[in-house]
Amino acid sequence: MCCIAGGGPAGLMLGYLLARAGIGVLVLEKHADFLRDFRGDTVHPSTLETMHEVGILEELLQQPHQRVAKVRGRIGETAMVLNDMTRLSTRCKFMALMPQWNFLNFLAEKARRYPTFGLKMQTEVKDLIEEQDRIVGVRADGPGGHIEVRADLVVAADGRSSVLRERAGLIADEIGAPGDVLWMRLSKRNDDPEFFVYANHGKVLVLLDRGEYWQCGITIAKGSATEIQAKGIGGLHGGILENAPFLRDRVAEIRDWNDVKLLTVMVDRLRRWYRPGLLCIGDAAHAMHPIGGVGVNLAIQDAVAAANMIAGPLANGTLCTNHLAKIQRRREFPTKLTQKVQAMMRRQIAGGADDSGARIVPWPMRLLESTSLPRRMRTRFMSLGIRPEHVKTPDVWKGKSTRDSLSAVLETD
Ligand SMILES: Cc1cc2nc3c(=O)[nH]c(=O)nc-3n(C[C@H](O)[C@H](O)[C@H](O)COP(=O)(O)OP(=O)(O)OC[C@H]3O[C@@H](n4cnc5c(N)ncnc54)[C@H](O)[C@@H]3O)c2cc1C
Repeated sequence: MCCIAGGGPAGLMLGYLLARAGIGVLVLEKHADFLRDFRGDTVHPSTLETMHEVGILEELLQQPHQRVAKVRGRIGETAMVLNDMTRLSTRCKFMALMPQWNFLNFLAEKARRYPTFGLKMQTEVKDLIEEQDRIVGVRADGPGGHIEVRADLVVAADGRSSVLRERAGLIADEIGAPGDVLWMRLSKRNDDPEFFVYANHGKVLVLLDRGEYWQCGITIAKGSATEIQAKGIGGLHGGILENAPFLRDRVAEIRDWNDVKLLTVMVDRLRRWYRPGLLCIGDAAHAMHPIGGVGVNLAIQDAVAAANMIAGPLANGTLCTNHLAKIQRRREFPTKLTQKVQAMMRRQIAGGADDSGARIVPWPMRLLESTSLPRRMRTRFMSLGIRPEHVKTPDVWKGKSTRDSLSAVLETD
């Protein structure tokens, strides 16, 4: 049996895949629901491809969402396409903007179809149970009081402030995050420009199309939120308008700081993602910078890689620490490289100011624009990620495959 702490994208996807493969799995989620405003709403082509591989893509796309095939930006005064997904070789040549609660509710509902899947909401994991240097379960508080869950494997998918990784004594290296992000919403009009990313006057403004409104994120200097707040909401309005003057007629919809949510950006990575009996995945193993909106997608890729590696050994009782080490080896490289590329993109998008303080397009960005190969590489990076994973675990409930077939699941390295 596998016990997963955290019902975010990583935990629910892993839970779904294991239950689909006939493994007993219990997901413990501390919140009562999946309602999260201003959370990762970008479902990239790589995640949509995974949904296709498990046969639930069409149903997922029946959930409310917007499709973005080209991510457009205005860097300084220059308009450009930052990510053109129209030529991808994947089934979906677009990214879906879907509220995370719809996505997570959908995954949970699909997982619940399988008899070996369990999900306990309002259940907060507090500690690990350790015996002879091995993690053998967790302690948690739920609506009915304190519980203890014993498991062959505990997975920490409890996000970037992971309690479990801290309890396990795993060490994270801070990669550094120079800024924070303020999130808010503004109404959307039919004749609004379709730019997605604006970079000007030292700030980056992201506008995510949520149908009737824009979900807006604006970068600020690290730790400067209190100082900005002290200057009053007018300063924030000004920062938005410097980048997107067309919002002048409605910027006052952001009335006060209650309409604004601060995301403290963290970028880190665990040195070791596992201990005997414990594996960390998703943000619990590596918090990502929001640039490119790849956090959800990396979490899903971790879950797929983990399921591919552990489903067979969990089914036949041969799971050992070596399997967990293999998962880290497989996913560490894409994570490291993604964090490096994110840092490079951050510097390029925010870099280069002319005398008026307006941003000009830095030369590497212009180079990327002018040659099709780097542009293709950038599209692959942002849409599919590095080393996209493919689902190798069977759906044992379909009747064709049996539990025994799990031992034949290919282990990839
Ligand atoms: C404001 C904001 C905006 C973002 N925007 C984007 C975006 O547009 N695109 C994108 O791809 N990424 C975005 N991200 C990042 C993205 O949300 C994360 O990278 C992604 O959700 C990671 O998935 P996860 O499952 O690893 O962790 P999380 O999504 O953090 O899920 C962890 C889950 O564990 C639960 N939990 C925590 N502690 C416990 C505990 N002790 N016991 C039980 N449950 C627990 C939490 O309630 C949560 O449900 C954003 C993040 C933030 C904060």
